[in-house]
Amino acid sequence: MYGKGIWEGLKVTLKHFIMSYVDDFRWGRKRYYTPEGIAHRRSPDTAGIFTVQYPDEKLPVPEEFRFIPFLIYDEVDGQQKDRCTSCGICAKVCPPQCIWIVQTNDPETGRPIPEPQEFFIDIDICMNCGFCAEFCPFDAIKMDHDYELSVYDRHENNIFNKARLSKPASYYASIRPTNYEREEAIRREKEAKKAARKGGGARGGGARARRAAGKGAARGRAAQAQAKPAAETPAAQDAAAQAAAATEAAKGKPSSSEEARKARLARARARQAARRAQQQSDQDEGGGE
Ligand code: SF4
Ligand code: SF4
Repeated sequence: MYGKGIWEGLKVTLKHFIMSYVDDFRWGRKRYYTPEGIAHRRSPDTAGIFTVQYPDEKLPVPEEFRFIPFLIYDEVDGQQKDRCTSCGICAKVCPPQCIWIVQTNDPETGRPIPEPQEFFIDIDICMNCGFCAEFCPFDAIKMDHDYELSVYDRHENNIFNKARLSKPASYYASIRPTNYEREEAIRREKEAKKAARKGGGARGGGARARRAAGKGAARGRAAQAQAKPAAETPAAQDAAAQAAAATEAAKGKPSSSEEARKARLARARARQAARRAQQQSDQDEGGGE
């Protein structure tokens, strides 16, 4: 009432106006366009103006700040190696469905190759939710910090392709150092476990091979001790006898249908016994080897 509030407001403005010169005098050239000057102006200690001179100065963004996703590639022997395997999970989980991927196929076999031929994100539709980065099983897509994306023609420029989306892992490490370190530690741990499993598998495989070799040798010795020519085994003798009987029976005309049936049965048994004898003989030979 009576303009007291207006006067109080003007006092604050006047105080900041005067203290801006005082702060300028205290900080000198460091007050503007330097990270510490910006940090001071954002702190409760600032006494004068606290605005930044955008776009010459920019406020730093926190590590978890997210804008448009980008694809990460590793540099292996001077070559770009995409982390993305074009599995399509990010495209499936994207709520506004603004990702689409073209899978690479082997030109000869036509079978899919685990790398994207093309990868598009319509950044006008992307709502910066970060689901794609959360769900990617290969840490291949992450949320960028770059928010200066204004263009004159959004239809031409705002569908980002793979070339535009791809950035090196070193860039990711620079904008999200804590996340990068955590993920690398997990990756190193997984690789160590895999190597240990492989080593264990090789040792186990060696032991298994030795055990198998021992068993094989024992079987071989047993087979050698018991081995008889196939023709001398009881089954083979049986088979030979039955076959002879069947042949004999088949020579003369069967006197009745009952005899004919018996002859057929004898021949079938003889064939079966001969097969068994042959199998036994093969097994004995295999065990001996
Ligand atoms: S970015 Fe990740 S989730 Fe998306 S297709 Fe590539 S590997 Fe799969
Ligand atoms: S940030 Fe969200 S909306 Fe944008 S591409 Fe990823 S999942 Fe889709």
